[in-house]
Amino acid sequence: MSNVPPRGTRIAHVGLAVTSLHETLPLYRDVLGLSEVPLDNADGACIAGLSAGDALVELLEAESPDSPIAKFIAKRGPGIHHICFSVDDLDATLERCRAAGVRLIDERPRLGAEGKRIAFLHPSSTAGVLVELSEH
Ligand code: ZN
Repeated sequence: MSNVPPRGTRIAHVGLAVTSLHETLPLYRDVLGLSEVPLDNADGACIAGLSAGDALVELLEAESPDSPIAKFIAKRGPGIHHICFSVDDLDATLERCRAAGVRLIDERPRLGAEGKRIAFLHPSSTAGVLVELSEH
């Protein structure tokens, strides 16, 4: 078998769509005790990063009314926006997704926050969850 998935896939981060970083951050940081880590803004969102063990929680606030996060909140309200899995080989993973008939949002990897190669899978193929893949 040439295209066996490696088993190093892990949760990189969970993205939460919030209406206000200012109002939400104190709960996660000060009450729940997650440590804040600096992250660049990306995809039209202001991002607050919080370390939760090996994974991050990312609080995502829309930068403008037409950003993806604003549209998500308008449609579904605040909540879990996406989950990101870190994979060993993004190209090979996308190839397996394609072969499995998974609908891809990004046909090819693109550069995301922190300069990592990422790609999104469409929720219609992933049990209703927006899945982001990133490379270690
Ligand atoms: Zn993400």
